[in-house]
Amino acid sequence: MLWFEERPNVAAPRPEESGLRLEVRRFLDGECKAGGFVPRPNNWVAFDRAFSIRCAEQGYVGTTLPKQYGGGGKSARERLVICEEMLAAGAPLGSHWIADRQSAPQILRHGSEALRARLLPEIAAGRCTFAIGMSEPDSGSDLSSIRTAARKVDGGWRLDGRKVWTTNAHHADYMIVLCRTAPRGEDRYAGLSQLVVEVASDGVTVRPIRNLAGEHELNEVIFEGAFVPDDNLLGEGGDGWRLVNEELGFERSGPDRFLSTYPVLRLLVAETGKDPNRYQAVAIGQLLSRLLAVRSLSHSIADLLANGERVILAATMMKDIGTALEQEIPQVAGRLLEIHPDPHGSGFAAALAAALLNAPSFTIRGGTREILKGIVARELGLR
Ligand SMILES: Cc1cc2nc3c(=O)[nH]c(=O)nc-3n(C[C@H](O)[C@H](O)[C@H](O)COP(=O)(O)OP(=O)(O)OC[C@H]3O[C@@H](n4cnc5c(N)ncnc54)[C@H](O)[C@@H]3O)c2cc1C
Repeated sequence: MLWFEERPNVAAPRPEESGLRLEVRRFLDGECKAGGFVPRPNNWVAFDRAFSIRCAEQGYVGTTLPKQYGGGGKSARERLVICEEMLAAGAPLGSHWIADRQSAPQILRHGSEALRARLLPEIAAGRCTFAIGMSEPDSGSDLSSIRTAARKVDGGWRLDGRKVWTTNAHHADYMIVLCRTAPRGEDRYAGLSQLVVEVASDGVTVRPIRNLAGEHELNEVIFEGAFVPDDNLLGEGGDGWRLVNEELGFERSGPDRFLSTYPVLRLLVAETGKDPNRYQAVAIGQLLSRLLAVRSLSHSIADLLANGERVILAATMMKDIGTALEQEIPQVAGRLLEIHPDPHGSGFAAALAAALLNAPSFTIRGGTREILKGIVARELGLR
């Protein structure tokens, strides 16, 4: 199914993007045929560092980073094309995804020059994995109530506390940790900071949490007096609330918020063949039309972001609509075919099982639906 190609008027791709799209697609076809990866849903979490390094060699990681830091110096739109193709192919992106999507832009905008020079070239080379250190056992939706804290010491900070649900922390080299650097006062949003923590440091312990599919993807991370050098503070210190919200902006409106189960849709179309029955044709058509609408919205937001415009309302709505759709795709696919989900099987059965077991988390990670609706209401002036 080539819906990116067949509807060139949707989201108005520019001529140079078609060439890039075909180039990325050829690379991914070659990798897949050579056994470099097996397509799977929820693939932006699947970890394979060797694959990420091969992607980086093609210029598909750190694409928008400036050349002086080893990046490609390309546009956000070109990065979007690469990301869409990688996600649609079901390639394992977990080793570089978080670093490429949010940690690198965050370090570029708010990191010290020493930090930028040290980490950005490693990220662009696909050799550096990042994790997101926001949620804590009693603070997920309400991040301002976090208790992880850093106290100032000679040359840096000592960090104590606990993070939870940390995706791929067991593979990560670094984690951007939201912590309290000043006691909580009347303004609960003041006194927070973001620190870039080396996961291999003394005083950092990573413990596994198994998900519904029995996979080890999530972790608990404990900090016991871990030392973080001054250079690893993002921003001015104390402005962590603003920074963390900027970081969430990178998380919410990209194609990973509606393409997590696209590999299932692709296999569904392959299984129903060229002659689907009427019920199958209508259901697949409905999914595809919704996918195209969400994709159009995502592209529009990417353009607004590139122009430096405020996108909170649109990005929040997009995540809500996109994750609801990617959650629904395996449900519909499971009803359309007489193939049962099988985590130990192959092809459609295995992809369907992985998608069904992972789908409940799509509307929790990156902000729950209730929280997103609250943000939309606030942005519309309704509360
Ligand atoms: C697969 C997965 C990966 C994740 N990866 C990471 C990661 O890498 N790093 C990281 O920091 N976090 C990660 N998270 C954590 C995620 O961001 C949180 O789970 C999420 O923000 C919700 O927080 P919580 O689990 O503490 O639930 P809570 O905040 O306790 O919410 C529980 C329920 O109450 C509702 N609720 C809470 N407050 C309100 C309110 N004010 N109004 C209405 N309803 C409300 C919520 O919608 C939810 O239904 C991940 C989560 C998942 C599922």
